[in-house]
Amino acid sequence: MTAKQLNGRELAQKIQQNLVPQVVEITREIGRPPRLVVVLVGNVAASASYVKSKEAAAKRVGITADIFSIPESTTTAELVATVKAIGREEHGPVDGILVQLPLPDHVDARTVLDAVPPDRDVDGFHAENAGLLSQGRPRFIPCTAAGVQKMILDAGVETRGKHVVIVGRSDIVGKPLALLLASRGPGGDATVSLCHSHTANLKAITRQADILVAAVGIPQLITADMVKPGGVVIDVGINRIQDGDKSRLVGDVDYDTVVEAAAAVSPVPGGVGPLTVAMLLENTVLAAKERNKAPSDG
Ligand code: NDP
Repeated sequence: MTAKQLNGRELAQKIQQNLVPQVVEITREIGRPPRLVVVLVGNVAASASYVKSKEAAAKRVGITADIFSIPESTTTAELVATVKAIGREEHGPVDGILVQLPLPDHVDARTVLDAVPPDRDVDGFHAENAGLLSQGRPRFIPCTAAGVQKMILDAGVETRGKHVVIVGRSDIVGKPLALLLASRGPGGDATVSLCHSHTANLKAITRQADILVAAVGIPQLITADMVKPGGVVIDVGINRIQDGDKSRLVGDVDYDTVVEAAAAVSPVPGGVGPLTVAMLLENTVLAAKERNKAPSDG
């Protein structure tokens, strides 16, 4: 069997095209395009490249995107002050605020993320938004988790009553994804196992997965023998590896072998990555709509 490839790039383009008329409408209503501010700290090449692709995608759908570049030497207190100033609109009107992770080790990321106003927290990492998701009434769903669910729905893969195994329990990917897929409704109602570095006999669990999601950060950790034959495999991982004198991106899934065991697999690059960006834009449009609702709307 050779698996179907789950093409995240095409789906992301479709989602972005659907956003264009919504952006036109909200621009007409509020007299300016929705605006996203991205805070980028330091000079990590991967972060700079993610931020650039977010900026370019935003501009393609008509959202204004501005990058605030902050030196690596910034402190937690300085960064909190900057994020709060952006939230108070001292640097112009803003609908979505995103602090690109990872932050330098000497900065307390949790404290910085909590400084983002929850109504403009388009990454969905603020405690208030995490709480709303856990209670089954999400406002901003973390973009990668939302992107994985979109990919599953778009592929027509049933989640209700299925066993989903997620490898990786981070606050930004694995944990919100587990909540989302276990929640009630379409794209949910799954039985979810959340695995991590202390999981005993990982392979015995992953082999039970109707849908297996890898969000670990270890190149090609998931091999064909860890996959249930005919299962669906979604690869969130983005890892840069050295291949001779060149470097290339690989996921957490050993694509070339898993493709022979699974029914469907997402590639890296071109899988979950573009969907993460599309979901960020969806969240920004949602934030702009919600914030600019007339008070009489409730
Ligand atoms: P984290 O490092 O925050 O979390 C990794 C998780 O994997 C942890 O829960 C850890 O367990 C678990 N883990 C580590 N080693 C093992 C192992 N041997 N077996 C089982 N579990 C293990 O990573 P992120 O969630 O931030 O990112 C994961 C990957 O996804 C990375 O490659 C990242 O680049 C990528 N990513 C991709 C995005 C996209 O848009 N496609 C967006 C965000 C991330 P423990 O909790 O016990 O430490």
